Amino acid sequence: MSEEQGMRRAALVTGGGRGIGRAICLALAKAGFDVCVNYASSSAAAEQTAADCRALGVQAITQQADVTDPAQCQSLVEGAAQTFGRLDVLVNNAGVTADKLILRMKEEDFDKVINANLKGAFFCSKTACKLMMRQRYGRIINLSSVVGLHGNAGQSNYAASKAGLIGLTKSLAKEFAARGVTVNAVAPGFIDTDMTAAMSDAAKTAALGAVPAGRIGRAEEVAQAVAFLASEEASYITGQVLCVDGGMGM
Ligand code: NAP
Repeated sequence: MSEEQGMRRAALVTGGGRGIGRAICLALAKAGFDVCVNYASSSAAAEQTAADCRALGVQAITQQADVTDPAQCQSLVEGAAQTFGRLDVLVNNAGVTADKLILRMKEEDFDKVINANLKGAFFCSKTACKLMMRQRYGRIINLSSVVGLHGNAGQSNYAASKAGLIGLTKSLAKEFAARGVTVNAVAPGFIDTDMTAAMSDAAKTAALGAVPAGRIGRAEEVAQAVAFLASEEASYITGQVLCVDGGMGM
């Protein structure tokens, strides 16, 4: 791709309207990517993120899709590729929690988290891989978590989904390495977003106590790592898990 000077590059970020996803959209826009901002229900936030991307001089659109639905994932990925003429980057960022100790956890709590966090990434990647393989160029970045590497009491469903994403990442990396498509994961620690704002004060204090850096992370700090893995310069990095966690997962 680097030989084809002047070619615009395009990215799709699931759950891109708010939180870490929004910061990723902005970091990619700053790097010159046209951006498709996916959302499930936060349409105003997604419109704002797309407008903020356009203000950085790139094209940006929003597209509603629930990543738990395979047909919606397929049309999301194909729609983004059609709009921009190609799709260089897929960031599987959409994620949810349903925290409970396992004795209280119902099957629906488990399914909800696996369906959004793990199956959503599978559905979007499946369509994106096909396009990227034909282009012989692509970057897929999955948002895992320090919890997927180390586990966390009260988050067995979430930890399983985030560990599952690491297995998905490494397997797809092996399937597509020879086709110019890299697949990596970013594992954030404790980051300041709506997701962590919903935690109890006791849980926040415990989480902070486990961070050597002694502070909560910013969504922008995660986004910088994603933008690096999305760049052409990261061409020889695949199947990796990059922790952005202030040392929490050491
Ligand atoms: P957040 O503030 O709660 O935002 C979640 C995002 O996911 C929203 O944009 C939401 O869109 C989207 N989403 C949820 N379900 C969806 C669905 N079915 N279809 C499409 N989009 C959906 O979370 P965050 O903190 O930014 O987290 C972003 C990612 O980083 C997640 O995968 C999370 O697990 C991971 N992560 C976060 C932390 C942290 O400390 N914050 C740490 C490790 C990993 P709508 O608003 O439109 O529903």
